[in-house]
Amino acid sequence: MSQLVDSFGRKITYLRASITDRCNYRCTYCKPEEQFKFIPHKEILRYEEIVEIIKVAVNLGITKVRITGGEPLVRKGIVDFIKKLRSIEKLEEISLTTNGFFLAEYAEKMKAAGLNRVNISLDSLQEDKYRRITRGGSLERALRGIDSALKIGLLPIKINTVLIRGINDDEVEDFVRLTLERPLNIRFIELMPYREDITDNYKDKFISVLEIKESLAKKYSFSPIDTSSGNGPAKYYQIEGGKGTIGFITALSQHFCQSCNRIRLTSEGKIRPCLFSNQEIDIKKAIREVESTENEQICREKIIRKKIEMAVKLKPKGHKIKEGISNKISFKMSRIGG
Ligand code: SAM
Repeated sequence: MSQLVDSFGRKITYLRASITDRCNYRCTYCKPEEQFKFIPHKEILRYEEIVEIIKVAVNLGITKVRITGGEPLVRKGIVDFIKKLRSIEKLEEISLTTNGFFLAEYAEKMKAAGLNRVNISLDSLQEDKYRRITRGGSLERALRGIDSALKIGLLPIKINTVLIRGINDDEVEDFVRLTLERPLNIRFIELMPYREDITDNYKDKFISVLEIKESLAKKYSFSPIDTSSGNGPAKYYQIEGGKGTIGFITALSQHFCQSCNRIRLTSEGKIRPCLFSNQEIDIKKAIREVESTENEQICREKIIRKKIEMAVKLKPKGHKIKEGISNKISFKMSRIGG
């Protein structure tokens, strides 16, 4: 079986693909409030192109794919797209990251199409605050989405909670209590300086999840658990008698680069070896240029393979996010995909 191994010996088995930069939310830490300039449709990869790239990636050794965005459920035709992905032999797992707004109506169809599991973003359990953070989102719909995912069995369900000092850090215990009653994996995520205009007062908003973990440990007895889910960035714990787990993602306070196993495909067809570096390999340009040549299929496959291998070779040893804050590295999550 083929393997993708980077220059530092890390096995790359996970691809995160953003299928759109469009989103029905405007989360304060992700997108500016003012009119957002979207990537023109013709610049976004077509579904067939994404499937083609993923097929080659799987032949090279990718076993897991996560579909993200923007909000992936706003892109039309996603159910058929998932079906096509499911037909790729050797692709072991397909997951999706969503804000949950459309999940209740999609969960069953997506499961039938071959989706294995979902990550749902949820930054507050209070309707008003949720609406403020997401700039207009609906907590009620997100919770309904979570219920549907549980009912349909899109498991395990991971809840992504970005902690922002002074905004939602007072709700940590409410999230933790959710894991006592429901089989949810709550992941506390450190705020990252994705948008240049939040970097100015970023230091006031940032809260280390290690600090959160320490204060929780004073009140709850929780033990580490082995999720055996590979090289993910979260470390998971369980409160005695709890049905779910708590995870801590310490992108800033603790690097987890040494076990990073992922590359990303942006919505406009660039492979990004590391989220926190501006380096990208343009795969779309290369494959669109060979569209009309003879032996098109073989040629395209070769090009895709070369581009993926090149991206893996370029994967840096560790991220430079702290330097990025001062050098204003651009992390546009809606384009790259979180
Ligand atoms: N629309 C989907 C959603 O809401 O989950 C998928 C895309 S969203 C960009 C993916 C993830 O990135 C979300 O869990 C979101 O919280 C996270 N994210 C975006 N900006 C972030 C930031 N500045 N710091 C930490 N996480 C961030």
